[in-house]
Amino acid sequence: MPKKREHSEAIERFRQAGWSGLIALVLCVLTVNALIDQFIWMTQKSFISYPASGEIAFVGTGDDIANPEFPQQREQLAELLDDMREAGVNEVYVDVVFDKSSTPEADARLNTALHDWDGHGFLSSNYTAGLDGIDRFKASIPAIREGVPEVGTDLWQNYLRVVWFVPYIVSDGKTELPSMSTKLADTNLYRNAIHPIDYLFDLTSIPTYELSELQANRTLIQSLRGKKVVIGLSTRDEKNTFTIPGQTNIARSIINIFAAETLKAGHTSSINPYAVLFVAMLAIALVTWIRSSRLRYAGYAIVTLLLPVAIYASGLAGIKINAASAILLLITFALWRLRSRWKRSFRLIDADTNLPSFVALEKDRAIALDAPAIIVARIHRFEEVRKTLAAELHTEYQLRIVDRLKAAEPDAIIYVGPGHLIAWTFAEKEPALIREHLEGLRALFSAPLQVGNAQVDVGITFGVDITPNPNVTRRLAAAVSAAERTNETYDPIEITELGSDEDLYWNISLQARIDAALDNGEIFLVYQPKILVQTGELIGVEALVRWCDPTRGMIPPDHFIKQCESAGRMAHITRYVLRAACEASVAFEEHGRQVPVAVNISATLVHEFAIVTMVREVLEETGMNPQCLTLEITETYRISNFERAGAILSELAALGPKISMDDFGVGAASLEALQRLPFNELKIDRTFTSAIKNNPKAAGIVRSVLQMGRELRIIVVAEGVEDESTLTILRDSGCVVAQGYAISRPVPFDEILNFQMDSKAEPLKKLV
Ligand code: C2E
Ligand code: CA
Ligand code: CA
Repeated sequence: MPKKREHSEAIERFRQAGWSGLIALVLCVLTVNALIDQFIWMTQKSFISYPASGEIAFVGTGDDIANPEFPQQREQLAELLDDMREAGVNEVYVDVVFDKSSTPEADARLNTALHDWDGHGFLSSNYTAGLDGIDRFKASIPAIREGVPEVGTDLWQNYLRVVWFVPYIVSDGKTELPSMSTKLADTNLYRNAIHPIDYLFDLTSIPTYELSELQANRTLIQSLRGKKVVIGLSTRDEKNTFTIPGQTNIARSIINIFAAETLKAGHTSSINPYAVLFVAMLAIALVTWIRSSRLRYAGYAIVTLLLPVAIYASGLAGIKINAASAILLLITFALWRLRSRWKRSFRLIDADTNLPSFVALEKDRAIALDAPAIIVARIHRFEEVRKTLAAELHTEYQLRIVDRLKAAEPDAIIYVGPGHLIAWTFAEKEPALIREHLEGLRALFSAPLQVGNAQVDVGITFGVDITPNPNVTRRLAAAVSAAERTNETYDPIEITELGSDEDLYWNISLQARIDAALDNGEIFLVYQPKILVQTGELIGVEALVRWCDPTRGMIPPDHFIKQCESAGRMAHITRYVLRAACEASVAFEEHGRQVPVAVNISATLVHEFAIVTMVREVLEETGMNPQCLTLEITETYRISNFERAGAILSELAALGPKISMDDFGVGAASLEALQRLPFNELKIDRTFTSAIKNNPKAAGIVRSVLQMGRELRIIVVAEGVEDESTLTILRDSGCVVAQGYAISRPVPFDEILNFQMDSKAEPLKKLV
């Protein structure tokens, strides 16, 4: 992925993380998190449980022992209190409110029994919900509580009937009582403060007895020795029972005991939702910057998994964590990301034509598995035609082209690519069949299209990939680059051969790779000698670019020059080559030799005056003698505006270099270009040179081009001389300059120096 897009996507993720954090924060302020947090605390109980101290026991009764109708119950309770005291029970808490007097004797008996505990027997006063739901403070009647120390309880149930927090001090507005939990745990009192209740203590580890059981079996009381005992009601009536994690209908005294155990174990800390949110937010924000999507998803997974780990660990440590804020953050963020991905999937459809896009083709598994051929049609002059059409006809123009394609490919799914490219798959992979089929398609396009009221000529050529590669992106790129290599006049269909063009996949992100390759010195020049045919003397070299990729090895220029061009890096690479060639020429001179150097310039650069500036700057920077430079203009058939090209070439010539026309003879516009542009040199294409031995026609053409050169007073170079006999024929035909494998392959700088010295000594031997 290009760096820029990479970066903007990271910013998008980061922003979404930020906004998600803010939303989670607002939800926390609105206490939406509380319900989730309670749910978490409830479920913690399924995984974590530890034993209570065992020092606080519960004695419960199903009878309503506070009922004034039954004075004997108060007397029996008083007896039990006496027995417990004698058995060495440490402290006793009567968690029942006697708010009505029974018989004066019974009331007095109970008061005495508590009194005898000498400050270690407590009565509790409670906040209890009345019928109207409002909590009221209830205390025992003075006759019973006289001289007896009191504790308070305030168990505020929430809508789930759970008490999560209790106060240290209970006050009815007039008197302040220590809460039962603080007294049971012997802890400090904190005014106006509450502490959480930890329900992860195992309920069964709290010693529990039936009141009647103790009354029937007095020896059982011995087992309570040294403990603190809470006596309370264990009615099943809804109003007076509570829910704790994992259980309902729990007696209120049990809640007080849980609260006391919490204090004894020191489990009073909690982590507040904002702190958790902040940490989670920080972690997510960091992860959003991870480039590799695989690592990033791993990062999200880790942050997400850390949450249950934190919940578990804090449970073990007896710390109440408010993790819901982080969960809200993660959910918001995940939803947001999903939405972005969903939106991105729309890229699968081209917005103008509503046809599937190239991205959709690349993602198609079926194509990856068994499409024998991927065809890419290239519409020539697409942009020019669009410019002449009214804006509302642009889409129609594209659709008309697709319609006509559909006439020949009724079953094919047509994918539209960037502007001038259209792709589909084909069920044959035999090149001859494909060619035949595509020739037919081209014939279909020879009639103009009707777009609105306009008649539009469509130039169409095809690139085809038939390599058996499961990577559709690669195959599509190969077909696209094959299509880019086509031209309407003499190469309308280009089929990638097995394996060879497969590597053209790096078309994608080529830009970055070329720049890196230039920086790393992977791109360098070799030089191929040009000689005087008569003497064998070296009269110049042609600089040819080479790319040695560390993984792919040598990449021939034919395979990357075109891609550079479509990636818009042609000027960049040309400047590099030009500078290297000029530096080489200066170096040749420093070695005492004047070797003219030729550099290839793609005709596409001759559309812009920038090339003039480039050549001037490089000449100035390197200090090369401009007369020693030749600019070989390649692919001259691509020159469309001769006037402009003529002006540019004249300015180039004015700087000093010779201008050479490369590949003369191939392409339609050669003679016209020769006539209209200021060339000093002409290179006969190697297809003619290599054929003169066996083909009298080619020999005739070469001879007449040589003759033409003499008349136009321009140098003619025969390139592609592959053997000695060809060289002999050229010499006999009056050819002055030749270049080719028979003379020398393109070689590194050093070998050119040697070549010159050898050829001085024994010129003709070198040629043989
Ligand atoms: P070209 O300008 O026609 O360059 C000559 C090509 O013919 C070179 O291929 C050379 O190695 C090859 N050649 C030389 N002698 C013989 C021979 O006897 N027989 C055969 N069969 N081939 C011979 P190369 O280096 O692969 O370059 C291919 C093309 O790539 C060049 O064709 C040129 O159009 C382009 N190119 C190379 N370097 C540059 C460059 O720096 N800039 C630009 N714009 N194009 C370049
Ligand atoms: Ca050339
Ligand atoms: Ca050439």
